[in-house]
Amino acid sequence: MISLVADINESQANLLCKSCGLCCTGYLFIWAKLRPSELDPAESLGLNVFRSNPAERGFSQPCPLWQRQCMVYDSSHYPHVCRSYKCKLLKEVIAENTSLPNALTVIEQAKEMICEVESLLPDSAATNFRQRLVTELEESNRLAQADARFRSKAEALLGFYETVFGVDDLVEKADVILE
Ligand code: SF4
Repeated sequence: MISLVADINESQANLLCKSCGLCCTGYLFIWAKLRPSELDPAESLGLNVFRSNPAERGFSQPCPLWQRQCMVYDSSHYPHVCRSYKCKLLKEVIAENTSLPNALTVIEQAKEMICEVESLLPDSAATNFRQRLVTELEESNRLAQADARFRSKAEALLGFYETVFGVDDLVEKADVILE
């Protein structure tokens, strides 16, 4: 019985993650941490690995391996951070504190908020939404005449990230233990 509930929750978790993808596509995070031993294997998978600073070794997002779902989740080189990371909303679904339909509605709400903020961002060569958001907020803080509409929507989105997804950092690191 317990395993049946676990299976149901697992399939709901898969559905939720496939409908979302925000933690793989650069909307929540700028980069994700890798263990030292994962750097070469992750590169061989096709991840954009960087390693010059020992304190910041990982791969940048958006991840090229996200194509409406992760293309390498069954690889032996699948990064630990990807296997272990669970956002707060996913944990709520697994714990049955919220239903899958409710969680899917929340994700749609997040995507609508992101679209609104994205439409207010200036053109940029950067492909990472979170990076563009940080840069623009810093610029907006520096300028005397900040764009109030952008600021309020950007801050609302960051608040949503924190309360709903439990994300208050720019890095996806889960419980990576550096070897
Ligand atoms: S490897 Fe897969 S789970 Fe990890 S960031 Fe890329 S698409 Fe997401």
